[in-house]
Amino acid sequence: MQDDCYGRYRLRLVSFLQKRGIVDPKVIEAMESVPRHEFVPEHYRHLAYEDRPLPIGHGQTISQPSVIGLMTQLLELSDTDRVLEIGTGSGYQTAILAMLADRVFSVEIIEALSLRARETFARLGYKNIDARIGDGYYGWPEGGHFDAICVTAAPDRIPQSLLNQLKEGGRLVLPVGYSGMVQTLWRVVKEADGFRKEKHGAVAFVPLVRLPT
Ligand code: SAH
Repeated sequence: MQDDCYGRYRLRLVSFLQKRGIVDPKVIEAMESVPRHEFVPEHYRHLAYEDRPLPIGHGQTISQPSVIGLMTQLLELSDTDRVLEIGTGSGYQTAILAMLADRVFSVEIIEALSLRARETFARLGYKNIDARIGDGYYGWPEGGHFDAICVTAAPDRIPQSLLNQLKEGGRLVLPVGYSGMVQTLWRVVKEADGFRKEKHGAVAFVPLVRLPT
């Protein structure tokens, strides 16, 4: 996306990720171009191209690049897809998704994070992202059905509301499990006769927070 002094660190990170199984050429290209350092607080920028999560304030973290790469790869996006993301956080994964899909709808429960991510999208020139503040447990009901849904905080079970918002052939990728423990990364594909569920290893995410109802 832009020439910057972090470019060679980014390429080094991506070649490390390729050895870890991030092999989809479109995902690699997106990760080579999105400037992760722009999404982390200034005093962590020197660590932006390490394969590790980093604090982004409000008790939240920007996810580890290898996990973002894996989840994005599992979503199997095409450039006509409409994607829903739950947990905008820093907006880094949103930007990756926005490079691979037609449009990204992203929900974040913490207002300050959503506002900061929107500023970052505007500064970097992303035009196909709709970000809003809310409880993503319920998805984006008036957004219609989605080709792909990515959840970046862990619920303790797969939310039915998100299954309902998948198109046929749509993919939902999310961590499921209890907070403070490792969770399982699941991919759920909506097929004509039901949902096909696959496990993709252990991950550690912040919990999907629920607003009191
Ligand atoms: N992909 C993001 C991950 C951020 S961590 C990144 O790399 O920056 C997960 C985010 O999910 C946090 O910002 C947290 O506030 C948010 N979150 C937690 N529960 C949520 C909910 N119910 N609805 C929307 N966002 C939620």
